[in-house]
Amino acid sequence: MSQPIDITLTRALPKVELHAHLTGSISRECLHQIWLQKKTKDPAFEMDDPMTAIPKAADGSIDVFSFFPIFDKYIYALVSDEKSIRFATTAVLQDFQDDGVRYLELRTTPRAIPAVGINEEDYVAIVLQAMSDYALSNERLHAKLILSIDRKNTLGEAFKVVHLALKYRHLGIVGIDLCGNPARRPISHLQAAFAEAHAQGLPITLHFAEIAQTDSHELEEMLSWNPQRLGHVIHVPEELRATIREKKLGLELCLSCNVLTGLSEGGFAAHHFGEWWRAGVPVALSTDDVGIFEASLSGEYLLAARHFGLGREQLLELSKGAVDTIFGGQEEKERMLGLIEEFWPRA
Ligand SMILES: [Zn+2]
Repeated sequence: MSQPIDITLTRALPKVELHAHLTGSISRECLHQIWLQKKTKDPAFEMDDPMTAIPKAADGSIDVFSFFPIFDKYIYALVSDEKSIRFATTAVLQDFQDDGVRYLELRTTPRAIPAVGINEEDYVAIVLQAMSDYALSNERLHAKLILSIDRKNTLGEAFKVVHLALKYRHLGIVGIDLCGNPARRPISHLQAAFAEAHAQGLPITLHFAEIAQTDSHELEEMLSWNPQRLGHVIHVPEELRATIREKKLGLELCLSCNVLTGLSEGGFAAHHFGEWWRAGVPVALSTDDVGIFEASLSGEYLLAARHFGLGREQLLELSKGAVDTIFGGQEEKERMLGLIEEFWPRA
């Protein structure tokens, strides 16, 4: 009996989401509710409604230059106190659960909000508390946290992120990420923080080769930081492709995000997912910033199936390959593989 591969099926398929930024995953509707709450409390609150203030990715109005200011100028200013961080985190977890995600690694950059007395550690504690409260009444979704170091961080700030990750590891922090504007260089000064994470057994993922570079020095340097996974992996010279294949690094690939922002050219059918998938490298389809791009993970699975001709067996293989790259440990892997088998038993 064969089920058609449609959105109903990809939504029901138990999925792992491994590359999702907390703030970028907040839906416009959720931001609108936060905006309404603030406006009701203080009629003089001057920000524009997020429904109109945030450009629509589907209109082609977001690219790598206009993307980061949306956060710096708008979303951070709206999600700016304990109440709104908790509210937004809970809504993001609910959205992923509703989309059939059963294991989630959310990522966030520890952010101080001095105006309301929140430091980086308070911020991490608020997010973890919201996640732990959510888990009490939602057993289907297992959610973990990755802390991100931003390219613009100083080494001192980067070390602070690693130390926070180690301090709160027992509460579900599973790794360290390098994120931020890819045009910002150099990043060599951050090496020691990643070396510390690696020495402490904290898995590492890096935003990698998002934009074309004239030389591959930075990419070689990043590969020497011992990442277990790489995000985006778009503009990679051939010699480094071989290294990635040999090391079987897990790749977090984001179809809609790359196509909508023009990071990858030629539309979905030309997306580098096809090349990596055929090379047998484990791929975790991911959303990156579902709040901005409005492209759900179940939609990404459907896009991959449609544009690359994946049938039932290939979708199963893709889902299981993604599970193999999670940072959450063997028990979580077995739980996910069990859920997938239960959903789609081998014929
Ligand atoms: Zn990202």
